[in-house]
Amino acid sequence: MGKKLLTEHINVPGIQGYEVYRKMGGYASVEKAIKSMKPEDVVEEVKKSGLRGRGGAGFPTGMKWSFLAKPEGVPRYLVCNADESEPGTFKDRYLMSRLPHLLIEGMITSSFALGANTSYIYVRGEYYYIIAILEKAIAEAYAAGWLGKNILGSGYDLDLYVQPGGGAYICGEETALLESLEGKRGNPRIKPPFPAIAGLYGCPTVVNNVETIAAVVPIVNQGGDAYAAVGIGKSTGTKLISASGHINKPGIYEIEMGITVEDFIYSDEYCGGILNGKKLKAVIAGGSSVPILPTDLILKTAAGEPRIMSYEGLADGGFAAGTMLGSGGFIVMDESVSIPKNLWNLIRFYHHESCGQCSPCREGTGWMEKILHKIVDGHGTLKDIDLLWELQAKIEGNTICPLGDAAAWPVASAIRHFRTEFEEYVKHGDKIKDVKYYFHTHNMDPAAAYSSL
Ligand code: SF4
Repeated sequence: MGKKLLTEHINVPGIQGYEVYRKMGGYASVEKAIKSMKPEDVVEEVKKSGLRGRGGAGFPTGMKWSFLAKPEGVPRYLVCNADESEPGTFKDRYLMSRLPHLLIEGMITSSFALGANTSYIYVRGEYYYIIAILEKAIAEAYAAGWLGKNILGSGYDLDLYVQPGGGAYICGEETALLESLEGKRGNPRIKPPFPAIAGLYGCPTVVNNVETIAAVVPIVNQGGDAYAAVGIGKSTGTKLISASGHINKPGIYEIEMGITVEDFIYSDEYCGGILNGKKLKAVIAGGSSVPILPTDLILKTAAGEPRIMSYEGLADGGFAAGTMLGSGGFIVMDESVSIPKNLWNLIRFYHHESCGQCSPCREGTGWMEKILHKIVDGHGTLKDIDLLWELQAKIEGNTICPLGDAAAWPVASAIRHFRTEFEEYVKHGDKIKDVKYYFHTHNMDPAAAYSSL
């Protein structure tokens, strides 16, 4: 059993409410920080912990905090990014609904460290029931004196608000989130300036993911060094993984970074193996934006070593033979899945969610969707596959925000690792067209469907 730094008490009856949470040691990090530490000491512990952003990018949190500008007389803000919308990722939802006070505690301790007197939790609009849970927990925290004026008699004030999200995937991008929080359309901003200099209302702002802020609680309670002792290399601590797809035990797992991918997929402690005894075909390891990997490369690196669940372990081999830990949305596909069809579905999503500000993303995602539709509908040519490859390469790195890359990487990796499957659709287009309904119903791969005719 791996260490549980966030979810140790998640199954304690009543842990959602203040009384039980407090009884289980809740709010100790606020007490410790406010009574016996200076804000810069808290930042130092977070730096020592090696904590990296759990929203997807994996940027060192302590470093991000230390970039925060501190001009005299200008407010600073902490904004929690709870706009969890990445397909395959549902761990923040779990954390907020089951342990709302953990997030609130992390927000108070982190706000104290950053010198913020007003902080926000920007929650995905579709998580309306979580907004109610958080608001109830915030009211309990105010009533118990953990929020408001003069917290613990220290002279430190903090107000915490929950803001429902704008209902778009792009509002999870930190600058689009800030635009939306200001009441505007959620369009990403051109960086620089970065939010640490000019964020919410033009003031210095830190935007952190739910899981990142929750991790500040054990870091302050146990010390940064103790947190850094868990995990492997520069991937310290634990990570919440939301596992879905063709596995026996889909769900959310807090893993100690450093376990093998094979262990995660096949052991009873985690996913419990592939559903119905089928064969593993591919995995999207970190939410839909990261490169898909076939069985041989997800279980072992290109050098033949067991692949490790960590930032570095999943990235081993670069984009040619590796992927990313991303947001921890671990999607498992068995042998029945059609990769081109799956990709078409994904690119429809990105096209729909593109905010439209930059041409490579706005037009490119639309064209990729059209070409993929043509291929899976049985009308594609070999040139279409090459065109798809060229298109993704022209989108990557040429857009205002990472949504362009997020749409390009799955296309590149699907063609790189499963090109023959796209070619099958092209070669057997006339037959595949006849069995279109069959594909749509049974989600079967084209070669198998063709041979079954
Ligand atoms: Fe908008 Fe896409 Fe450009 Fe991001 S990359 S700013 S989502 S058009």
